[in-house]
Amino acid sequence: MSDLLTSYEAIVGRDVIGHLEHLAQPLAGRRVVHVNSTKEGGGVAEILHKMVPLMRALGIETEWHVITGSPEFYQCTKTFHNALQGNHTAPREQQLAAYEEANAAFAAEYGAQLVEADFVFIHDPQPAAVIKHLPARRGKWVWRCHIDIGSPYRQVWRYLYRKVVNFDASIFSLPEFSRRLPHAQYIIPPSIDPLSEKNIDLPAGEIRGVIDQFGLDPERPLVLQVSRFDRFKDPIGVIEAAQLARKFAPLQLVLAGGGASDDPEGAAVLAEVKQAAADDPDTHILLLPPDAHRTINALQRAADVVVQKSLKEGFGLTVTEALWKGKPVIGGDVGGIRLQITDHYTGFLVRTPEGAALRMRYLLHRRDKLKSMGERAHRHVLENFLLTRHLRDYLALMLGLVNSTTDRLLVGINHGRY
Ligand code: UDP
Repeated sequence: MSDLLTSYEAIVGRDVIGHLEHLAQPLAGRRVVHVNSTKEGGGVAEILHKMVPLMRALGIETEWHVITGSPEFYQCTKTFHNALQGNHTAPREQQLAAYEEANAAFAAEYGAQLVEADFVFIHDPQPAAVIKHLPARRGKWVWRCHIDIGSPYRQVWRYLYRKVVNFDASIFSLPEFSRRLPHAQYIIPPSIDPLSEKNIDLPAGEIRGVIDQFGLDPERPLVLQVSRFDRFKDPIGVIEAAQLARKFAPLQLVLAGGGASDDPEGAAVLAEVKQAAADDPDTHILLLPPDAHRTINALQRAADVVVQKSLKEGFGLTVTEALWKGKPVIGGDVGGIRLQITDHYTGFLVRTPEGAALRMRYLLHRRDKLKSMGERAHRHVLENFLLTRHLRDYLALMLGLVNSTTDRLLVGINHGRY
């Protein structure tokens, strides 16, 4: 067995790796190509960096290529992204032309590999038009949509729909993100990598070092929210909740997020957050660089309770990361957070600052409950939201397509029940 599989086996156990090997066996020697639009940055690239070597370790010949284009191409795909998530904006003619051109150029350059591949996974809208240039394709083509297109701007969805209908199947992260399409749709939620810097076990000394670095008190309870400074993440509501809970428990609050210099709205939200916390020495706002993965890991491990009080949330990887570290999470009762938090079991679902404050108080006073919920939280991620489960779902989907099963919906999660 490869070293890579051995290192995952140490975490998920022999049965899970054995299951992957079993599923991969009939696919050995098959050729898979993944196509997305960036090698670095963003969740898709992060997953592919680990998914591709894992597929290879299982004997599947896997390649990963990146579509590139002119600045108009990226403007177009950014507009697609926003419009598919509900903004009423459409790309200009010139930007659409750049989109079509980049897809045609990619098809010309990689056509030979793509036509011969047994499976092609096209990630998100950026390379979705490649398919129409390769009518002689031999394998199964799957459109893997990572974004929420549950209520898109219709004009843009109509344009993209004409590309997506050519695929043999699509994958969405949650049922509510999907659209009506004339082919099989699979629901495969995202995952975290337990071996990444963000999630790997850390020595106690390193965690303590981060506590000291930010002037936190190791003796007092720590409540943490990690998020971009975005109104949908409700940082002000979290400050209010902590202030209410502090009447009953001497907690420190940390709001950790990235710098907001390139995002005018982020800068405005950050200013509001700073103002809301101005007279509060126990609320710490930490601005972290984009590569502060180990620091975030240490903060999540140092925290007693993690909060993700979002008002709207696609999936919420910060929730997964915290649950994995054995922390019960107090989360907004929205989107993918509901899939991860079973109320009173792996955390609490809340709608108001008062509700969040009540749960903070409860968890900080009932350490026995905090511990047992944290253990269940870790198990929930172990069983449902690790990269190995994600890969298992891909393998099952590939087998399903090879065996030409009829349309069906694969739900790759047991919704918190064991
Ligand atoms: N994150 C980070 N630095 C920050 C804020 C967030 O690395 O300053 C990470 C966080 O750990 C998580 C991801 O960015 O892995 C955020 O994903 P999520 O699904 O929670 O929210 P999104 O930002 O995509 O709405």
